[in-house]
Amino acid sequence: MWRRDRFTNAELDAAPLLHIDPKPELQVFGGPRVGTTYDVTDACKVCGAGARQTSALLINGEELSALEGRRAASTYYSDLIVEERLAGQLASSGITGLSFRGVFAAFESQVRFQLPWRQLCPDKTLPPMSPRSTGIARHKHCVCGRSGVTGMNEQPTRLVYRARDLAEMQDVNLTWEWFGEPRFNGDVSDALFPYPWFLVTPKVWRIFQGAGVTEFEWIPIRLEES
Ligand SMILES: [Zn+2]
Repeated sequence: MWRRDRFTNAELDAAPLLHIDPKPELQVFGGPRVGTTYDVTDACKVCGAGARQTSALLINGEELSALEGRRAASTYYSDLIVEERLAGQLASSGITGLSFRGVFAAFESQVRFQLPWRQLCPDKTLPPMSPRSTGIARHKHCVCGRSGVTGMNEQPTRLVYRARDLAEMQDVNLTWEWFGEPRFNGDVSDALFPYPWFLVTPKVWRIFQGAGVTEFEWIPIRLEES
């Protein structure tokens, strides 16, 4: 059982940034092994952290029923997608740091077609978080220093940032750290890339809240006292 903190809407609304934690039962399979392409020129050769997506997001066509009746979803690797009307609302809301890519269903038969969904693509990566963050494990830290970070069962995740490191934050940002347990041997089509987490301002949360999205948990970060 995952231990998590619970927050009131007032607490979420007052946070500097919120970590988006997609509910695991609502995730679909997508990413490199489904045919999404990535440029790994500047990525870590060991874990793939820093891989840059270069195509639309492909998700497994056999799992489309999981998206029915939903307005937001996630892949297992924290690629976030929203249905196109919600994407339109986000685009016209004036929130900063966000662009969009298309989302396609891919089948083993090589058939592909575009879905009425858009992938959320943040432009900004924040500096590393404070070592005072708790509830994250660095057991398998990669030589690059960016990946091998995971959440923990026993302790709720509490991300801490130094206030000065948020000076250039946007409404939508990615963590410098990449999470999950990667597997990469240089072949992108067989890769299990680590992935950064999304950190967004309460302005973004309010739009999702207004759209009735219940697929994500929202967890406030804390600022380091200095
Ligand atoms: Zn690495």
